[in-house]
Amino acid sequence: MTTEAVTIITGSSRGIGRTTAELLAQRGHRVVVSSRNQDSCEAVADDIRSAGGHAIAIACHVGHEDQLEALIEKTVAEWGQLNHLVLNAASNPVYGPSHQVDQEAFDVIMHNNVFSGMRLSHLAREHLARQPQSSVVFVSSIAGLLGNRVIGAYGLSKAAENQLVRNLALEFGADGIRVNGVAPGLIRTDFSKALLADERAVKHFEQTTPLQRIGEPEDIARVIAFLVSQDSAWLSGQVITADGGITVTGGF
Ligand code: NAP
Repeated sequence: MTTEAVTIITGSSRGIGRTTAELLAQRGHRVVVSSRNQDSCEAVADDIRSAGGHAIAIACHVGHEDQLEALIEKTVAEWGQLNHLVLNAASNPVYGPSHQVDQEAFDVIMHNNVFSGMRLSHLAREHLARQPQSSVVFVSSIAGLLGNRVIGAYGLSKAAENQLVRNLALEFGADGIRVNGVAPGLIRTDFSKALLADERAVKHFEQTTPLQRIGEPEDIARVIAFLVSQDSAWLSGQVITADGGITVTGGF
């Protein structure tokens, strides 16, 4: 498949975002690699260009309004259009029960994971509306579907992201913009490094996941590639759970 689509992926210097940028570039997207660190984005964009793809690097801390505005403005200045927005960057500063979540941490989580995705979608809307078959994809989590003792505030933000997908699908539909999400289960990235360092936990996840393994970034990148493609032309307002089946186990 070839496409000239211009696609921004937030948080794409590592993990799921990086793999998504690489896969979309392989499929002909002109990708904008973005994270807080310009040098690490440049390195990923260089690798993509070396592999024959089209990529630019624009640093953007999703918690900062001026950087969100600059991300959209610089993308359109460079490539003249914007077709897809993949909202992948997220913050999770607390690992522990809810009494450990102070207001500052709560505000960071909700701001970076929820408000910023909504704000960036609005900043992108006029550009997306000019393109046929444009879309927004939120990278959520199964933490937004299940109770959790240690990443509960993060889960709250992911549940809110799922609702944002539904709300924006309604608001943006009139402009022909589809809005969807993917809710990954456990994926092998830096984000889950601490958990995956615990051999017993890994064994437990492997045994309880119907597909009997830990997810890889490619497992999610392929779902995102589907959601920005015309294969999902009739999907909007949906969050696809991609977790090897773990959310349907019910503990038995
Ligand atoms: P990761 O490997 O830690 O990568 C995170 C990426 O986001 C990096 O490029 C990081 O680069 C960037 N980033 C972090 N904070 C940022 C900020 N404030 N502004 C802009 N960029 C920022 O994480 P991942 O596992 O790929 O996670 C990606 C998404 O998947 C997140 O939305 C996460 O909630 C979701 N998810 C992950 C898992 C999992 O098990 N890994 C499961 C479910 C859902 P810099 O540090 O250089 O900014």
